Amino acid sequence: MLLSVIIPIYNEEEAFPFLLPAIKKVLGELACDHEIIFVNDGSRDRSLQLLQKAAEDPAVKVLSFSRNFGHQAAITAGMDFAGGDAIVVMDADLQDPPEILKEMVARYEEGFDVVSAQRSSRESDTFFKRTTAAGFYWLMRNMVDQRLVPEVGDFRLFSRPALMAIRSFREQHRFMRGLVAWLGLKEAVVPFVRQKRVAGDTKYPLHKMLKFAWTAISSFSALPLRLSMLLGLTFCGVGVIYLCYTLYVVFWTGKAVQGWASVVVLQCLFSGATLFVLGLVGDYVAKIFEEAKMRPLYVVDRTMNVSHATMQPIPRAIVVERPDPQRH
Ligand code: UDP
Ligand code: MG
Repeated sequence: MLLSVIIPIYNEEEAFPFLLPAIKKVLGELACDHEIIFVNDGSRDRSLQLLQKAAEDPAVKVLSFSRNFGHQAAITAGMDFAGGDAIVVMDADLQDPPEILKEMVARYEEGFDVVSAQRSSRESDTFFKRTTAAGFYWLMRNMVDQRLVPEVGDFRLFSRPALMAIRSFREQHRFMRGLVAWLGLKEAVVPFVRQKRVAGDTKYPLHKMLKFAWTAISSFSALPLRLSMLLGLTFCGVGVIYLCYTLYVVFWTGKAVQGWASVVVLQCLFSGATLFVLGLVGDYVAKIFEEAKMRPLYVVDRTMNVSHATMQPIPRAIVVERPDPQRH
């Protein structure tokens, strides 16, 4: 059996010297062949030089992007070139401990197509990261897909058929976890304690996290558009009630209508709401526009130890079936 490990790298010069020995140690203990695919996502530090050195080992393969295409694109590239029977995706900062790979492989051998590592504790993360992450998972489960397993990130193992199924999704606005949930494959969950980043800083600052969350919602759900209809209806209702009240004041009490201030407030409120909803619709239209162009998801401008023949064609149909007779 061949195990492929995919690791996206973006400005990880501090973490990389810890990563390589840690992952190699665990892979050496596993009773299977392995390949490690590093995807350099347009790093601007010394990551590429470090990868070049690491690629002296033929089991280390490198795909280097022409620029920063993003974490999800880097994972996709790794998947496109992975040749393994089982494929693992993990982060470069050792927050995903390689030690649990053994358990993940064992679950794969039992017949599971997807083995997800679930953070049983994130004590090592900051309070801010923990609360925003909890909010994110709540929102995702309620707006994207109930099948999303809480506290499961991109640290996962896939069987080859599951990988081929995921590869058939070529959308620009990618949220891998959502795609996995959408497939609904047989999934095992392995708990682990999330470690501290071994070195360097997070490559997901707040603005990237917010963008990621919005991609996740808008690429899976039209609920915000439907909610905007509700918002419009609510404002209409309030307008009608206010109209009735004004008519009552004029005809029953005979007092002159006062309140320029309320006119201004209402004007601002309604114009604001209209523009907000227009912007929301615009965002979805922009996504259609970007998807319609069907541009490639990434550009690789350098490879190491990678045979171009390893990139298999993208499947047009999904058949997830393993020849394993012990399949669950
Ligand atoms: N990463 C990437 N491209 C990016 C941002 C991040 O390839 O634009 C990689 C990064 O090198 C790491 C993984 O994605 O291997 C997760 O990033 P990080 O650990 O900084 O995220 P956090 O754990 O803080 O959410
Ligand atoms: Mg991390």
